[in-house]
Amino acid sequence: MSGGGKHTRLLHAGAPLLRDGAGPVNVPVVRTSTVRFASQRELDERHHRRAAGERVATYGRHGLDTHQALEDALCTLEGGHRAFLAPSGLSAITLVLLGLLGPGEHALVSDSVYAPLRRVDKTLLQRLGITVRYFSPARDDLAALIRPDTKLVYLESPSSLLFEVLDLPRLTAIARARGVPVAVDNTWSGGWFLQPLRLGANISIQAATKYIAGHSDVMQGAVVVDSPALAKRIATAHEALGLAIGADDAYLALRGLRTLPVRLAQHQRNATEIAQWLQRHPQVSRVFYPALPEDPGHALWQRDFSGASGLVSFALRGADATTAAAFVDALHLFAIGASWGGYESLALIAAPERLREHSAWQGSAPVVRLHVGLEDTQDLLADLDQAFHRSIS
Ligand SMILES: *Cc1c(COP(=O)(O)O)cnc(C)c1O
Repeated sequence: MSGGGKHTRLLHAGAPLLRDGAGPVNVPVVRTSTVRFASQRELDERHHRRAAGERVATYGRHGLDTHQALEDALCTLEGGHRAFLAPSGLSAITLVLLGLLGPGEHALVSDSVYAPLRRVDKTLLQRLGITVRYFSPARDDLAALIRPDTKLVYLESPSSLLFEVLDLPRLTAIARARGVPVAVDNTWSGGWFLQPLRLGANISIQAATKYIAGHSDVMQGAVVVDSPALAKRIATAHEALGLAIGADDAYLALRGLRTLPVRLAQHQRNATEIAQWLQRHPQVSRVFYPALPEDPGHALWQRDFSGASGLVSFALRGADATTAAAFVDALHLFAIGASWGGYESLALIAAPERLREHSAWQGSAPVVRLHVGLEDTQDLLADLDQAFHRSIS
């Protein structure tokens, strides 16, 4: 099904054909290591098509029906040509970096990027002779930073601690004019509120761990590319790294995708209410949520995104690290923990050493990041209120 509105298309993408006149709604879990062939000729033919760049499974690592249905649905979601599945969001990031960069080559990365990318740089890319330069997407002139050996521009919008919104059409146009591919980490939007490929990016990366799976029970990454040429380069690295995910996890992500729009709409309603309450709170000096008119990224967000997800950060006025920890410890409904995108609320302290790497924020107050879940907002507000009273007086 290719026509219809965007909800209809997402719900029906990758749906299985009926066999003998009947069948399930969603594709079933098809587990395998060995792929069987009717004849040597069939096997040879499929090897050949695979080598030519077609998506054809000749072995379990390549994934059969469940994986392919998820890949199809991800292409529909992101408006892409081909999708690749990885065992985590971080491995999807590494796949793109290793797929597009080689010794002596250079990448430009926005400085508010998901922090573990810097660890991949320090522990792996540097050893391979790949250089990464971190730039301020708001202040630096990207055009002046692109060198002849620049082979990738890597962006994340909004960033995942302070939600700095990047001017994606402007940045992708600069890179494209120089022939440099652009990858965007699109985890914040779940692919539903933003399609980076429509704004000029060539690759969209997601931690499907977060909103796509949506229930805090799956680790998974996805890479969606816009062209056969990039698909070929990513496919080569994907094969060489031996990246594979289980059919059960592919199924869970596919199931999660079907309810992504309704979950995100509710995350946005709840998060907006909490963000507005925090804005009025005397112990809060600043709230980071691009859907708020006061947020510096609001105009870009309104232009490029169709909604906002459940992440809200705020700076605690006059608090130190001990008070911030006491605040987070005093919360009952918000669990303390990393990750986000499940149905439940979470809180963590955004580490100051991480925030210092982000040129968009020069403050010194501790920052708390909330993932606002699907609970009743009056319960979440009561929890925040009692935590303020117990920790900061
Ligand atoms: C969580 C996250 C990742 C990494 O995903 P994992 O599945 O946890 O490895 C990458 N980018 C962003 C923005 C994330 O929030």
